[in-house]
Formats: sequence, C-alpha cells, structure tokens
Amino acid sequence: MEKKQKLYEGKAKKVYATEDPAVVIIEYKDDATAFNGVKKGTIVGKGVINNKMSNYVMKQLEKAGVPTHLVEELSNRETVVKKVSIVPLEVIVRNVAAGSFSKRMGVEEGRELLSPILELSYKCDELNDPFINDDYALALGLVTQEEIAIIKKYTRKVNEFLKKYFLDVGIQLIDFKIEFGRLANGMLILADEISPDTCRLWDVNTNEKLDKDRFRREMGNVEEAYQEVFCRLGLN
Ligand code: UDP
Repeated sequence: MEKKQKLYEGKAKKVYATEDPAVVIIEYKDDATAFNGVKKGTIVGKGVINNKMSNYVMKQLEKAGVPTHLVEELSNRETVVKKVSIVPLEVIVRNVAAGSFSKRMGVEEGRELLSPILELSYKCDELNDPFINDDYALALGLVTQEEIAIIKKYTRKVNEFLKKYFLDVGIQLIDFKIEFGRLANGMLILADEISPDTCRLWDVNTNEKLDKDRFRREMGNVEEAYQEVFCRLGLN
C-alpha cells in the first residue's frame, strides 16, 4: 500500500489517499496544539507513540466487539485505516474530575466521580467545540437516535477496556475523548486516535500527570511522560 495525494492535514496527523478508495493512510506528526490551536509546539517522538498505542488499543477493542478503523500498521508513524466520514462529535468520558469539568462545576481536579460521565461536544473549531447533549445532536441531525445508542454502547466498552489496560501498569484513566466515523455503507466505527493526546493519565501512586496536560500547562518533561506511558505499556 502506497501514499498517493494528501487529502487532509490536521493538527497532529496527515491523511493520504491510496489506490484503494475504501482506505487511507494516516501519518502521525510530532506537532502538538492546545486551546483550539492557540498554543503550538512539538513533542519529539509523540507521533510514533500515538500511532503504536492507538493501534494496539484499537486491535484489542476489535476483539472486545468494538469495530474500529484499523486495517494495518505500515511503519512507526503510518497506519492504513478504513476511510470514514467523521461524526462531528467529541465523545468524552470522565471517571475523575479534571479539566473543563472541574472548571465548569467548581469541583477540584482529582475528585473521583460516583459514576462515569459520558459527555458530548460539537466538533466545530469556529465555535470552540461547544458542550452539547443528545437532544442537540439529534435536533441538528448530527446523529440518529440509533447511532447515539450505538455510540454510547461502544463508548462504555472503550472505558471499561481502557481503565483496566492502564490500571494494570499503574496508571489511572481520568478522562478521554474518542471520535466515531461512518463507512460508505453507514456503519459506525471507532476512528481517530486513543493516545496521551486524547486521554488524561495519572500515575496511580503519585498522581503525576502522564499526558498532554504537561504540554497544555507548560509543566515540562512532556516527552518523558509520553515515553513513560509507552514503556509501561510495553509498546516500545
Ligand atoms: N480532549 C481531546 N481533544 C479536545 C478536547 C478534549 O482529546 O479537543 C480530551 C482531553 O485530553 C481530556 C478529555 O478529552 O482527556 C476531556 O477534556 P476536557 O473537556 O476537560 O477539555 P480540556 O480541559 O482538555 O480543554
């Protein structure tokens, strides 16, 4: 499989066409952005880590009954995936209070939530990805009732898998964001990525942050944190 023309370049990835119209090649970059592109930088080695971690997780999720876009890892930074049209929703799960939830609700970061929260944002840079609910998504035609039900079912499975996956290596899954896409036939599958860019990951014993918050909040040791997660998971 070979890269043909570039279809899209986003904040962290490039997407290339291939000779097969049903699949594309993703190339993961080391570029990092935060606050809707206002803060820009580089996290050396991030592309390799995010590619490999996301692929491993998606492979396991497939086995657990969550269909994903993964086809085949091509190289350290490149993966063949099924071509989808992305559902314009950020599906967020929170197990522990942090980030925008803590701000909005006045709850200190690190407070354990009594039950996981499934939250939706409308993916729209101009509007800064506003917080929405099921009714907004239905009323705006972003998804159907059936799709919402499937998204919630898959998302709960992803949370159960990820919580255990990280806890086994001494990492607490605070929250994460996933995205879904539709195949040409309408089937919904898990797309985008699952990585320290899209998850909050804290060391179980020290609560040390091992994710993109180190970049967002200028905490230093960003590369080291990504590397630490990668090594603990045995993906290096
Ligand atoms: N997240 C993401 N992309 C976004 C917004 C959030 O991957 O555009 C992830 C973020 O890394 C965290 C979770 O979703 O793991 C919840 O983020 P939150 O809503 O607290 O927003 P933030 O504080 O990151 O702006």
